[in-house]
Amino acid sequence: MMLSKSNPDEIQSFVSDASYLPGGFASRVIFPESAAQVAEVLASATREGTPVTVSGAGTGTVAGRVPFGGYVLATDRLNKIKNIVKDEAGGRAVVEAGVVLADFQRLLEPEALLYPPDPTERSCFLGGNIATNASGARTFKYGPTRNYVERLRIALATGDLIDLRRGELRADARGRIEIPLQSGRTIEARLPSYRMPQVRKHASGYYVAPSMDVLDLFIGSEGTLGVVVEAELRLLPKPHGLLSGVVFFASNESLLGFVADARSASLKTRQYQQSGVVEEWNLRQSPSIDARALEYFDSESLSFLRQKYEAVPAGSAGAVFFEQETTSGTEDLLMTEWLARLERHQALADESWFATTEQDQEKLRDFRHQLPVLMNEWFARYKQRKVSTDMAVPDEEFAGMLSFYDDTLRASDLKYTIFGHIGDNHVHVNILPRDDAEAAKAWEIYMQFVRRAVKVGGTISAEHGIGKLKREYLREMYGEGDLREMAALKRAFDPAGILGRGNIFSKDLLS
Ligand SMILES: Cc1cc2nc3c(=O)[nH]c(=O)nc-3n(C[C@H](O)[C@H](O)[C@H](O)COP(=O)(O)OP(=O)(O)OC[C@H]3O[C@@H](n4cnc5c(N)ncnc54)[C@H](O)[C@@H]3O)c2cc1C
Repeated sequence: MMLSKSNPDEIQSFVSDASYLPGGFASRVIFPESAAQVAEVLASATREGTPVTVSGAGTGTVAGRVPFGGYVLATDRLNKIKNIVKDEAGGRAVVEAGVVLADFQRLLEPEALLYPPDPTERSCFLGGNIATNASGARTFKYGPTRNYVERLRIALATGDLIDLRRGELRADARGRIEIPLQSGRTIEARLPSYRMPQVRKHASGYYVAPSMDVLDLFIGSEGTLGVVVEAELRLLPKPHGLLSGVVFFASNESLLGFVADARSASLKTRQYQQSGVVEEWNLRQSPSIDARALEYFDSESLSFLRQKYEAVPAGSAGAVFFEQETTSGTEDLLMTEWLARLERHQALADESWFATTEQDQEKLRDFRHQLPVLMNEWFARYKQRKVSTDMAVPDEEFAGMLSFYDDTLRASDLKYTIFGHIGDNHVHVNILPRDDAEAAKAWEIYMQFVRRAVKVGGTISAEHGIGKLKREYLREMYGEGDLREMAALKRAFDPAGILGRGNIFSKDLLS
């Protein structure tokens, strides 16, 4: 017997998420415990034409798991870690969708293994991370969730179960895909013809690339193509040590100079490592910096954080949080390299914070985490929808984009913060309205930012996805024709249109 709840008090927490979009409702929440049970729920929902919204931990910020009718399929009871195996490259883990990221990472610690994806909020589920192709601070070095997914077990809306292993099933050169099902039927579909923006991070609409792995289509598909039931994930050896810091700057120009310097040095280091020019590398003797995280705080963000952290220096115009992996042989040399760079760019080094122990590093990470939490508290206090951008642009466009954010907002008199993944040219602008009139102004400005990001070849969502809140922006990025091609692809997998209704697609595209 599958657990199912319909009492409004009991299901309240399943009809909302971190977007705070009000009005979500469902007739019941169903808690399957196996792939077969997920398939059973979906097959009968397709027969009835009942919408199904997949629920992870509800930390999503774009209302992807907020249902407007139908059933919620909760993955909470699909929470087994089936195995963790070590190998010479690190290891592999087979996990169910409802495993909490923080629990998984805690379990890997004593095994000296690392699962790199690290969204700032770690109470999310691994299935939710895959459905949104989540990323985080460490994505600068390691890339997003997609890079660590080796196999997926997926339940389709029709009740078919498919297993996709990386490298085993690809689209052909003309963008056609064929997936044979156990029932004997074959799903035939065509990839949309658009090209994705050339940015480091991208989570807007379906992933499409020439001759792509079909597995990649499901990663980041926001609960619209199938339910991720189980995944095999690739793990890396845990780095020996870590050096991290929150460094403050008296001017934004110095800060941006430091970021550009640290970023290009890190990318060069990686190029050396990847190209296998080991001798040249060894000859250099002194290790070069290779940041795994480069995160930005503008002065407004620091003002917010000062409410909780009195030690934030009064004269700082901004700050950067960085992380650098080390070994016992390189720790001192790397510290020297970082300090030299900080000096070169006039950082407030004496007032900055550095950490080499796990305990102190956790404190710095917590400092970073407090900012989105403070933003969410603001939106809740003023009962406003979250106005938070998630755009990334190509390298050469970032400085101009940041000035555009700042200039536009300063002229508007609205309160705001700018912070986030500056290493990936991806910062979050939170515009903070105190009433409906300010909110209307904030959304107008948001649209100006969207148009500018699209114009310079960027993406409108680098990590949070489209959900129900960013559909109109997707239309700015991909034209009507592209959206229709995406919708046709969805229909091939979900002919009754029951899955993730309202996510990515407006109603007209699927009817
Ligand atoms: C304070 C804070 C900080 C955050 N920081 C980051 C960050 O740094 N980087 C980042 O990428 N995100 C970040 N997020 C957003 C969020 O944590 C991620 O999007 C996360 O991956 C969502 O996982 P979840 O389990 O909570 O999914 P949910 O919110 O429950 O669902 C998200 C979407 O995935 C679908 N879904 C969930 N599970 C499945 C499944 N098994 N199969 C198919 N579809 C499914 C849902 O239908 C929904 O559309 C942050 C959120 C908060 C609140």
